[in-house]
Amino acid sequence: MMESDPISASEVEKIIDLESDTFFMSQALRQAQKAYMAEEVPVGAVIVRDSQIIARASNQVETLKDATAHAEMLALTQAQSVLGDWRLTDCQLYVSKEPCPMCAGAIVHCRIERVIFGCGDKKGGAAGGFINLLQQPTLNHAAEVTPGVLEEESRLLIQTFFREAREKQKMKTQGEMLS
Ligand SMILES: [Zn+2]
Repeated sequence: MMESDPISASEVEKIIDLESDTFFMSQALRQAQKAYMAEEVPVGAVIVRDSQIIARASNQVETLKDATAHAEMLALTQAQSVLGDWRLTDCQLYVSKEPCPMCAGAIVHCRIERVIFGCGDKKGGAAGGFINLLQQPTLNHAAEVTPGVLEEESRLLIQTFFREAREKQKMKTQGEMLS
């Protein structure tokens, strides 16, 4: 008689739900890693429609010398150009960190259906952190919000970036004092 083998741990790892929030957030995190490698604040975003990624972007403020070049803004522009429409009504935006007021404003203008983010931002977040622009009853569009997907990974990347930036700054200041 054949006995069915129990699924091994490595096999379980291979079973990835390609339509899950975790999967798409891991793709946004890859963009955040890309930003980190480019010495940008590590935030990444992807936009999904019908379970397909139609745009992916990383924060490029320093590279483009453009304070509006947040990952979400670049991803929105890409998605609009892919679809040939400024309405992103059936789209979901995955971003590793809670969107700021600028990006939340753009998200509402583009009518994104749902926003999924990693770590929250109590000081600057506009998806419920310090303000909720994504769900303002007075605006003509509101997005569903799913917070905290791969939260720890997103936060750790940002914390590492700022710790290293502080260390670099400290070393630079010490170097200047010695010269
Ligand atoms: Zn932003």
